[in-house]
Amino acid sequence: MSAAEDASETKARGLKVAVIGGGISGLAAAHRLLSRSDSVDVTLFEASQRLGGIIRTEEADGFLMELGPDSFITNKPAGLQLCEEVGFTSQLIATDARYRRSLVLSRGKPLPVPEGFMLMAPENPWALLASPILSVSGRLRLLSEYFVPRRQSSDDESLAQFVRRRFGREALDHLIQPLIGGIYTADPEKLSLQATLPRFPEMEASHGSVIKATLAQKAARRQRGGRSDEEESGSGARYGLFVTAARGLSDLVSTIEANLRRRPGFHFHPGTPVSSIRPVSGGGWTVTTAREQQTFDAVIVTLPAWLTAELLSDPACATLRAQLQTIEYASSAIVVSGHQLSDFASPMDAFGLVVPAIEKRRILAVSFSSRKFVNRAPDGYLVLRTFVGGAMQPELMQLEDDAILNLVHQELRDIFGMHQEPLFSEVVRYPRAMPQYHVGHLQRVAAIEDSIRQMSGLHLAGSGYYGVGIPDSIASGRNAADRILQTMHPTTT
Ligand SMILES: Cc1cc2nc3c(=O)[nH]c(=O)nc-3n(C[C@H](O)[C@H](O)[C@H](O)COP(=O)(O)OP(=O)(O)OC[C@H]3O[C@@H](n4cnc5c(N)ncnc54)[C@H](O)[C@@H]3O)c2cc1C
Repeated sequence: MSAAEDASETKARGLKVAVIGGGISGLAAAHRLLSRSDSVDVTLFEASQRLGGIIRTEEADGFLMELGPDSFITNKPAGLQLCEEVGFTSQLIATDARYRRSLVLSRGKPLPVPEGFMLMAPENPWALLASPILSVSGRLRLLSEYFVPRRQSSDDESLAQFVRRRFGREALDHLIQPLIGGIYTADPEKLSLQATLPRFPEMEASHGSVIKATLAQKAARRQRGGRSDEEESGSGARYGLFVTAARGLSDLVSTIEANLRRRPGFHFHPGTPVSSIRPVSGGGWTVTTAREQQTFDAVIVTLPAWLTAELLSDPACATLRAQLQTIEYASSAIVVSGHQLSDFASPMDAFGLVVPAIEKRRILAVSFSSRKFVNRAPDGYLVLRTFVGGAMQPELMQLEDDAILNLVHQELRDIFGMHQEPLFSEVVRYPRAMPQYHVGHLQRVAAIEDSIRQMSGLHLAGSGYYGVGIPDSIASGRNAADRILQTMHPTTT
């Protein structure tokens, strides 16, 4: 078929699609639909007046503050691909190599995470042996993972079970729980390893040990003349793999929005919460808002699973609704604060601090934003983002803002020797925003997908299913769009 025939056939089969939720997942879905076909009509419903959802940047008095996510990883391609497609790549900046290291609170003191310790894989066993974070027996137990026999079962297990089994309890409590639990604000006893970090059980299965696999990968990289030392340096996470937007992540949102607004098939309804979606007999879905009801050929819902369940009140959706409700979400808050560097006894010369639950503090982590990325604060000043709550300390979310600010300031005084009040500090709350991928998560998502297959035209996206980060969310929106485009014309995507 010629390109002209191809286009006209696609046009003849044009579809009306509703995208519900204008966070990054919804924006990615809308952009994918409209950039891949000129015969799709996309209506984006967003409850608030602004796009971006959890992504929100503020600027004031020379400070640039991320109130939600502050960066994204590049080894999952969807984030970079979207940036490329909207012409945003030149705006991306890497982390500041001068401060590429993490701290972990150890008996009340911030200590460096051992060089080369990547989430749970020690690339540099000597650095681990020299670190005082674990007792001597804890260090030896961690390194003896090399000899721990491979597990026979391939069933899912929790992060805590895996780490205790392979690296010992001390490594879990003092190092790995805060490094990984912090990403998901999760309880390590419940967090599914298969759904969050499948590469670690895969390393065990392929090499018999995570350490053996890590060292083999490092040797292979060296042989290939791979990543530079600078990119490799650091601890906690591969910081060389993270990027952000020079003027903040909201700038990426505005760029996608501008791109969408130029497209004739795009209709944006801000300040319009959807109250329900219902299947129409004979095909399609009715979307109801306070103002109107409209029928669409297909709907992409990008809300958290529990909010999606609330939209599906039709009895025909009862099974799916119940399945969506089984995905739990944790609440957290970020305190964003501005300081003079000289107000701290500590040099604050790292990307941040993670706090093991065993330290019994009231904060989960502190990100030193203006050390991670340049141009976040004027010279001599600092922006911090302190994380509170999560699955392990839900009771703190009951506190008023003033109480949260007080407890964060107290922790900053105790841990970093802060001796002046912050220049400003603000609490940003995220109620039920972080999906908890509990053991069995992949099976729960597979059951949801089975139900969805029975409901032609309904598609789900967002961080509740296949990954919690920005690139995962973007990929989920694009995949949902691709499934719709595929139904229009099998060769469209
Ligand atoms: C505190 C925090 C920090 C994070 N940090 C990072 C990070 O540094 N890096 C990273 O990669 N990821 C991070 N994440 C994860 C990342 O932010 C999310 O995965 C991603 O932003 C989710 O986007 P989304 O579009 O799926 O959802 P959301 O951003 O939640 O968007 C959903 C949208 O739907 C709208 N909505 C809700 N109800 C309705 C309705 N009834 N009708 C219409 N619209 C509705 C909401 O207003 C919102 O705009 C973080 C998450 C949190 C909570």
